[in-house]
Amino acid sequence: MKYKKVCPKCGFSNIVRFESELGAYGTGNYISISALKNVYIHRYVCCDCGYVEEWIDKDDLKRIKESKKADIVE
Ligand SMILES: [Zn+2]
Repeated sequence: MKYKKVCPKCGFSNIVRFESELGAYGTGNYISISALKNVYIHRYVCCDCGYVEEWIDKDDLKRIKESKKADIVE
């Protein structure tokens, strides 16, 4: 949905993006990679069927991989 702008479930293209943000009391959709750094997870929603995907921006992927909290899955 992020790149093709088409819903993989219903095939329509009525897609919207919701930016994640840090809310009160630590609420929000993010991964805490250190005590002071978060990486935000944004949602893409199909407004025709309700399917939702979550994505991390490409610029943040290096920060995720280098996080001391990350466990490499093999
Ligand atoms: Zn859909």
